[in-house]
Amino acid sequence: MSADDAATEPRPVPEAQSGLGVSGAGADGLIGLPHPPAVGASALPAGTFDGTCVVVTGGGTGLGKAIALEFGRLGASVVIASRNPEHLAAGEAALVELGAPVLAQRCDIRDAADVAAAFTAAEDAFGPPQVLVNNAAANFPVPAEDMSPNAWRTVVDITLTGTFLCSRELGRRHLAARTPASIVNIAASYAWTGGPGFAHSAAAKAGVKNLTETLAVEWGPYGIQVNALVPGLFPHEDMTSDIQANLDGTTATTDHDARQPALRVGHRQELGWAATFLASPYARFISGHTLVVDGANWQRRTLTNAPVVSVREQMGRPPFAG
Ligand code: NAP
Repeated sequence: MSADDAATEPRPVPEAQSGLGVSGAGADGLIGLPHPPAVGASALPAGTFDGTCVVVTGGGTGLGKAIALEFGRLGASVVIASRNPEHLAAGEAALVELGAPVLAQRCDIRDAADVAAAFTAAEDAFGPPQVLVNNAAANFPVPAEDMSPNAWRTVVDITLTGTFLCSRELGRRHLAARTPASIVNIAASYAWTGGPGFAHSAAAKAGVKNLTETLAVEWGPYGIQVNALVPGLFPHEDMTSDIQANLDGTTATTDHDARQPALRVGHRQELGWAATFLASPYARFISGHTLVVDGANWQRRTLTNAPVVSVREQMGRPPFAG
C-alpha cells in the first residue's frame, strides 16, 4: 500500500465506538453497513483499462485523486487536469508511486481553449482520451441571501459549465473519429433534494445530473456512454475547512457517523470502484444513469421532524440586515 493509499484510508474504528467491528453489533444492537475491502483491492479484472487514456478533472486532490488512482491500478494512463500546481504535483506523485503512466496537465475547465489544449496534450501523451471523469467542482457554504453574483457564477461556471465544456470536447473528438467513449460525471444528492446553504452548488449539480441524461441520449448513437456518480459523505484531508466544519466531529478520527443509516462515512476506494465500473466494458448498457454511493443517506427521513433551524442560524450568522 502506498503512502497515498494509506492517507486515503480512514483511521481504525474502535469497535466500542462504532459498533462496526468484525465481532458484530455494538451495545445498541446496531451494526451499520460493513466496511469495504482495503485500498488496493479491485472489483474489476487486472488490466481492465490497459492502454486506455483516462482524464480526471481535479484528479490531484480528494475524491478525484482516489478515482484517478483506481483507474491507474487497473492499467489506465491517467491525465489529471486542474489549475493548482501543488494539487497536480500531489496527484502525479501518487500515480507515479503506483507505477501508472500519468500526465499532470494544467487546465481551467471554465475555459474552452484550455480544455481543448488539455485534451490535445493528453492525446499526444497517451492517445485519444477514451474516458472522462468530470470530477472538478467548487463549493462553499453560504446563505442564498448573502451570496454574491460572483460567488454564484464561479461555482456554477466550474461545476456545470466546466463539466459541459470537457464533455463537449470529448464528444466532438469521438463523434468526428467515430469511436466510442465513456463519461462519468460527479454529481451530488442535492441534485434531487436541493441543498440549503449551498444554493449555487446544488443548482449546478442538478444541472450536471440533467446534462448526464441529455448527453446520454444525444451521444448514445455515436457510442458514447454518459453516467453520473453521486458520492455521499467522503471526508478527506483536502477538504476545505468550511466544508470540514459541517462534518460530525467523530469522522476526524474514525469513520463512524451516527447521522447516517450506514453508521459510517464512505471510504474513497468505494467511489473509485463505482467510477471504474461505470466506465468499464462491463457497464456498456448502462447510460444516462446516476449511481448513488452513499449508504442510503439521502433517502433518510425521520418519523418526527425536528424543529426547523434556519441556514443562517446553523452557520452562526447574525440575522440578515439587508
Ligand atoms: P476537492 O478536493 O475540493 O476537489 C476539487 C477539485 O476540483 C480540485 O482538485 C481542484 O483542483 C479542481 N478544480 C476546481 N476548480 C477547477 C477549475 N476551474 N478547473 C480545473 N479544476 C478545478 O473536492 P472533493 O471533495 O474531492 O470532491 C470531488 C467531487 O465530488 C466534486 O465534484 C464534489 O462536488 C463531489 N462530492 C464530494 C463529496 C465529499 O464528501 N467529498 C460529496 C458529494 C459530492 P485545482 O484547485 O488544482 O484547480
